[in-house]
Amino acid sequence: MASKSAGLQTVAAKNGVARRPRPSRADAEAAVRTLLEYAGDDPAREGLAGTPARVVRAYDEYFSGYDTDPVELLKRTFEETDGYDEMVVLKDIRFESHCEHHIAPIIGKAHVAYLPGNRVVGISKLARLVEVYAKRLQIQEKMTAQIANTLDEVLRPKGVAVVIEAAHQCMTTRGVHKPGVSMVTSRMLGAFRTDPTTRREFLAIIGVPAGSALTNV
Ligand SMILES: [Zn+2]
Repeated sequence: MASKSAGLQTVAAKNGVARRPRPSRADAEAAVRTLLEYAGDDPAREGLAGTPARVVRAYDEYFSGYDTDPVELLKRTFEETDGYDEMVVLKDIRFESHCEHHIAPIIGKAHVAYLPGNRVVGISKLARLVEVYAKRLQIQEKMTAQIANTLDEVLRPKGVAVVIEAAHQCMTTRGVHKPGVSMVTSRMLGAFRTDPTTRREFLAIIGVPAGSALTNV
């Protein structure tokens, strides 16, 4: 098994994120004060006095996914299957992410399935995997592919399917202002890609009609 530091480097390389020293909390708070001033307000007024610190604490939460290596997360926990070879599906995994173009919320749900080879993971780990990628700056297509590819790489299953449905606040609260629109992306690997019966079974379980407008990534 790779060492922890090697794992982190792998993640960084995969996401194209150079691991650079983080600015201090004070620097981050100063940046928020600059944005408040840019918005036209006075960061010194009473109501805004605690805002920079609160925003930075919120960032710690929104972007906590950078601190976890998803490959290590799954590797630590897989078990041999003892012959279980039916589809494993976890549906309606709610997530909150942020788009990398506007740092606006992306709120939606992910459906994750795999057809075990000889390894399975606890379903809570599937939810954690979604969360680790969600708590980063994202685009939905990339997040869909990352979840599927990581499961495929670590579990070596016979197939992986990931479908994500999400609303993007950068579309609903700014720009084109289109509320109620959700985007659906999918990535199918192995049996889910090659076997229409398996794919249909999965789509029926998660309640997405086969033949609906999935964007494959
Ligand atoms: Zn955006």
